[in-house]
Amino acid sequence: MAGAKYFLETFGCQMNILDSQLVEGQLRARGMTPVGNYRDADVILFNTCSVRQHAEDKVFSRLGQIKGFKQSRPATIVGVIGCMAERVKQNLFVRAPHLNLICGPGELSQLPTLLDQVWERREQVAALAGSQARRARVPRHAREDDRLEALDLSRSPDVGGSVLQSYLRVQRGCDKFCTYCVVPFVRGPERSRPPDNIVAEARRLVGFGCREITLLGQTVNSYVYEEDGRAVRFAKLLERVHEVAGIDRIRFVTSYPADWEEDIFRVMRDYPRIMPYLHIPAQSGSDRVLKAMRRNYTAGSYLKLMDTARKYVPDIALAGDFIVGFCGETEEDFQRTVDLVRRVQYEGLFIFKYSPRPGTKADRIGDDDVPHDVKTLRNNELLAIQSEISHRRKQVLIGREVEILVEGPSKAARKAQGETSSQQRTRGKHSPTFSSRSGPQIRPTTDTGKPTIQLVGRTPGDLMAVFDAPPDHIGAVVKVYVESASAQTLFGRVTKIVSPARSAEGIAAH
Ligand code: SAM
Ligand code: SF4
Repeated sequence: MAGAKYFLETFGCQMNILDSQLVEGQLRARGMTPVGNYRDADVILFNTCSVRQHAEDKVFSRLGQIKGFKQSRPATIVGVIGCMAERVKQNLFVRAPHLNLICGPGELSQLPTLLDQVWERREQVAALAGSQARRARVPRHAREDDRLEALDLSRSPDVGGSVLQSYLRVQRGCDKFCTYCVVPFVRGPERSRPPDNIVAEARRLVGFGCREITLLGQTVNSYVYEEDGRAVRFAKLLERVHEVAGIDRIRFVTSYPADWEEDIFRVMRDYPRIMPYLHIPAQSGSDRVLKAMRRNYTAGSYLKLMDTARKYVPDIALAGDFIVGFCGETEEDFQRTVDLVRRVQYEGLFIFKYSPRPGTKADRIGDDDVPHDVKTLRNNELLAIQSEISHRRKQVLIGREVEILVEGPSKAARKAQGETSSQQRTRGKHSPTFSSRSGPQIRPTTDTGKPTIQLVGRTPGDLMAVFDAPPDHIGAVVKVYVESASAQTLFGRVTKIVSPARSAEGIAAH
């Protein structure tokens, strides 16, 4: 399909953003080119999420939106890839007969072949892992792993956004089977990747210009790989990635409280390029609810873990996920969640209203008995509490300097440059790009005489900072003096360049 144009829209988590980048790499390697509007595309792909019903509804709505276009241009190939393909399977063809292709997240290495097949034979095709690949204890065939390894290792620079901050998968799938969650059913069993491959990929990313790597796994700290008869666990993997020259920042998401090992805190304390940031979902503050969710810890043991985190890494930024309105959650259960949130003092929270997922244990035996408006009330109450906490914690930083890796123009600056909101969505939060085209938002500064632009970057604790600086600061590590703060963002000015953006020669030298 060389020369064909593709449009790819990504929904969902970081894992999906990474999958989309790998898919884009494959398509570009075959001579296909990206377009920002589906109306200009020969191939329209949606990389989808199944974690909540709302995420699936959005994709059905997109499929509805493009139906007329597909009728007027029947040769266009429309595909649903990722988790929703694996969950809804051939029923997708029933609900959206104009769909040509479905491909699960474990089959993405086959996508170019599937596209050729549709192109040549004009038939509907599906590549799904199916039920046998699902039940956790059934090992996948080694060849399947090899194919997926090859896909991860095939990354090319600057696909789907900047590589300054890149995701690196260390683990596939999940074996936890939390009772509400569809992930183990659509992403298959938990498999840790070989540490040598992870380190090799990290080196390649540095070569492409990457300065910050986020290691990805559904339960990233459960990582374990048997190597020469010895188990390489997550703390060891962190040490090995830390050795890769040229990486300034290492993060990892998402951590699973019940599998935490204290050794990981030791490495976080002793290795300076591992950022003081921990995303560790609690899901609820009620032991009764945690048991019904099958999370394998109590609120008390979770709190103890957070205390230990702060003992080892005093400036650690904690982030968490909570589900409100899970089956049978009473007002008292919810108040325990509120108590836990107040006690932990997170830097940021992700709050979700419980959404029953077909096939999960909670959907089979639980009762989705918390009314939707009660879920909304609890969601809003928790958001308001966290917003107050976030605001207070950020006020403490006013008048101080924070270290920032400069990512790129702010959303407002990008909008002023003419990027559509759909393009922004597709790129995801960790992939800002910058076009050197002068836009109306560029203004002169008095200090340096260089024109400035509104830029964004993050602190080691993943707090977002906004400041005006010349575009050549993008990719640099700078000190920003914090002048004010909202619940979400720090505002300030650059006081010093700690480490300039790397030139192509600089990158090659690494
Ligand atoms: N593996 C990670 C973990 O264990 O935290 C994240 C998995 S999931 C993609 C991200 C978050 O979605 C979960 O932490 C949970 O809070 C939320 N989630 C998962 N299933 C859900 C459901 N059925 N309804 C509402 N929220 C859900
Ligand atoms: Fe889902 Fe639980 Fe696995 Fe996270 S640990 S992906 S919430 S089953």
